Amino acid sequence: MTTIYSARWVLPLSAPPIEDAAVAVAGQQVVGVGPRAEIVSTLPQFRVESFGEAVILPGLVNTHTHLELTALRGYLEAEERDFFAWLRKLTVARLERMTPDDIRVSATWGACEAARAGITCVGDASDSAMMSMQALHDVGLRGVVYQESFGPDVRLVSENFEKLKNKLQELRGVETELVRAGVSPHAPYTVCGPQLKLIAELATSEKVPLMMHAAESEAEELLLREGCGAFAEGLARREIEWQAPGVSTIQYLKQLGVLNTQPLLAHCIRVDDADIETLRETGAKVAHCPKSNAKLGHGRAPFAKFIEAGIAVGLGSDSVASNNTCDILEEARFAALLARAGGGEVGSESALRAATFGNALTEGAQADLAVVSLSGVHQVPNYDPVATLIFASSGRDVILTVVAGREVYRDGRVTMVDEDRLRARMHEISKRLRHG
Ligand SMILES: [Zn+2]
Repeated sequence: MTTIYSARWVLPLSAPPIEDAAVAVAGQQVVGVGPRAEIVSTLPQFRVESFGEAVILPGLVNTHTHLELTALRGYLEAEERDFFAWLRKLTVARLERMTPDDIRVSATWGACEAARAGITCVGDASDSAMMSMQALHDVGLRGVVYQESFGPDVRLVSENFEKLKNKLQELRGVETELVRAGVSPHAPYTVCGPQLKLIAELATSEKVPLMMHAAESEAEELLLREGCGAFAEGLARREIEWQAPGVSTIQYLKQLGVLNTQPLLAHCIRVDDADIETLRETGAKVAHCPKSNAKLGHGRAPFAKFIEAGIAVGLGSDSVASNNTCDILEEARFAALLARAGGGEVGSESALRAATFGNALTEGAQADLAVVSLSGVHQVPNYDPVATLIFASSGRDVILTVVAGREVYRDGRVTMVDEDRLRARMHEISKRLRHG
């Protein structure tokens, strides 16, 4: 496929916005970015597609989600003020009330939602990583699926670790150019220190990425610093021994060697200046999930400070059970507004950089891009395409999503799966969860 996509604006991100511009794609790659007239005249054999009043940008990246939980959108509204109860109800639904096929359908539906919102790459943490990898593959998205590991009990470390190693081996066997496997020790309150240490070593020796939840809640901070609170009580009820390290989550993860893996850490709300310095020094990356954090009442991560410190920070929807949408443009708007409400300075360009997490439209890059209409009533007039994109647009304005040169969403349809069949299955699953 050789196509020139043109629009009123192209945002390469590696260079300033270009007006009346175009992006040429051949096979999986970008082969030209520049003024439309120039691109069209140098590549006369390419098919030209014009989107008019729209913007072409590098594909959006959802750095932290759980696609398999898409069926739980809106399912936990009553438990949101009690994180412990929220996690419990979620775990029971996920493990006891959803069949393997429900999980697969749920993840695929989530991947469709992502493709529709211009998201080309997903960081997905999953208990059934095989299903999520399949879902991304089916919908045509790029991504890393991190196999989750749980285990707060030191007596079960070797058993739990073996389980993870075996699963990872299987996942590596089905990796594709677009979909890779990683590991995810769930969180400091669900995985004990020795197991965290082993998983960090595994990530290093196997050269796979590591993602985990970190510094998300007050309950987590209390558990680590003082050994009390809801999580401590939960462990005590299960007769699981816990010694509080007496430090912040970030320092704890540093002590255990987790930060040697340059992990992707979701949330990072409860961090002080020393923690931010540690994140910077170790090259850890942050998945900032402002809407999920706000909805669960966990607070606000210091997004502006992360940017200022030069930490690689991306945006994550987290699961739609706590958001309730997978929409990175909406997340970017919320992130910028929330940072400003807290006195931080986050411009629309910084928000866009976080939303695209290092992606850029340059010659030779993988052709991952999104086209966003700028002609909606809510977007006109448009004095600055980046500001209009961040502050007046959402994923619902996306008209085309391309991953590695393939159109995965266009003309209102996800191209590679049957959304009508999936929608019917989602209705079935939710009916069963509601009444069952
Ligand atoms: Zn999460």
